[in-house]
Amino acid sequence: MASNTLPVMDHVASKRVFIVDHDHAAGQELALQLGYFGYEVQIYTQLETFRLAIKQPTEVIVLADIAFPSDSLGGVHAIRAIQRERDMPVAVMFVSSRDDIVARLEAARAGGLAYFTKPVNLGDLVDKLDHLTSAQPQEDFRVLIVDDSVSLANYHAEILKQAGMATRVVNNPLEIMSPLLEFAPDLILMDVLMPECSGLELAKVIRQLEAFVSIPIVYLSAEKDLDKQSSAMSQGGDDFLLKPIQPQHLIASLTNRIERSRLLRSFMVRDSLTGLLNHTAIKDQLEREVARANRTRAPLSFAMVDIDFFKTVNDTYGHPIGDRVIKSLARLLKQRLRETDVVGRYGGEEFAVIMSGTDGHTAMKVLNEIRADFSHLRHLSADQEFLVTFSCGIAEIANFVDANRVAEAADKAMYEAKNAGRNQLVLAQKLPGM
Ligand code: GH3
Ligand code: MG
Ligand code: MG
Repeated sequence: MASNTLPVMDHVASKRVFIVDHDHAAGQELALQLGYFGYEVQIYTQLETFRLAIKQPTEVIVLADIAFPSDSLGGVHAIRAIQRERDMPVAVMFVSSRDDIVARLEAARAGGLAYFTKPVNLGDLVDKLDHLTSAQPQEDFRVLIVDDSVSLANYHAEILKQAGMATRVVNNPLEIMSPLLEFAPDLILMDVLMPECSGLELAKVIRQLEAFVSIPIVYLSAEKDLDKQSSAMSQGGDDFLLKPIQPQHLIASLTNRIERSRLLRSFMVRDSLTGLLNHTAIKDQLEREVARANRTRAPLSFAMVDIDFFKTVNDTYGHPIGDRVIKSLARLLKQRLRETDVVGRYGGEEFAVIMSGTDGHTAMKVLNEIRADFSHLRHLSADQEFLVTFSCGIAEIANFVDANRVAEAADKAMYEAKNAGRNQLVLAQKLPGM
């Protein structure tokens, strides 16, 4: 198989990992940590043994070092030899103390899905592994189409839908606000000439909203005048496509833009320790979900989770062990809640969960099971095992109307759970007069 035609492995149906590293101690340290996240790890210090092992027809993810004593690109060479013998490439990521472009290029040519420099940021690595092994398909790209022509808007929507994207159409630009907030598009495909206001004016307004400062806006217009195009760009547009456009060109342009902006966004909205949404992002998400729930009258619950006596954990076992406890809870919440639930790291050892379509009593039941399981998880310090618990407060949107009040109520309920003895849940009661 020619190296430049390797198909991309985007899913691996097993949590088995082969670490290929000449340095056994480094491999073992990494294996220990990955084991903590549910990965079953095998370490190979010799390329030859690794080559024999990978001949077995098992699905694995390989984490390969690049430099070996016999060959400064030994890891890459071994992987290339293996890829040549296979129909489907092996899923491989490189972990190396080399950070030069030659090593990176060789790694990419060998089909490397990611490149991590040592010391590895474990959070990034686990994120990448989770992504590769999670059965969930990549979330749909969401495109908001603004065009006063109903037929043209629908035509473009149809093209994008067939490419697997989710779309929402707005024909009157003055009605953009609620779809913008609720649909939370990845990109806006914007007509330029519309009777109510121009696309350029609308882009200006959108850019003045903090939450949409960085959303890609792509103009789609019959405008051929280059001066007008560049003025459109300077007024907050990212790209300018000419009508009529070839479906393939439309799909490719938008896909490109969305992939890049999602990646950039993920750096802004994710907490680096746990990979969960950070405080600001989860609050933004709560506002969106509350707006949607108020419109659809669907139930929605918001939960605050706070680890009990966490200061003692840090004081007794040290901060790095404390960090592991935080990660383990993050992981448990992610694994046990549904894909549609949203989990965020609200503060140090505080988490927030948005459960759409879920009433308070159901939320209590689900989180109480997680509470019980967490309280039995054995955490390891250097020389002993210990247990940790959490307390949780839950509020249901039906009783509290807006995002701020539902968050406040959940927080208050959480403190009630603490005062009542911790390791328990409290459902916030409806306020009198509401
Ligand atoms: P309570 O049961 O009342 O919640 O007691 P607590 O000890 O958990 O109380 P509190 O919330 O005041 O303390 C939280 C501690 O968490 C304080 C802080 O040092 C620690 N912490 C905050 N962020 C991190 C982090 O990222 N890693 C670690 N290891 N500790 C953190
Ligand atoms: Mg606490
Ligand atoms: Mg706290």
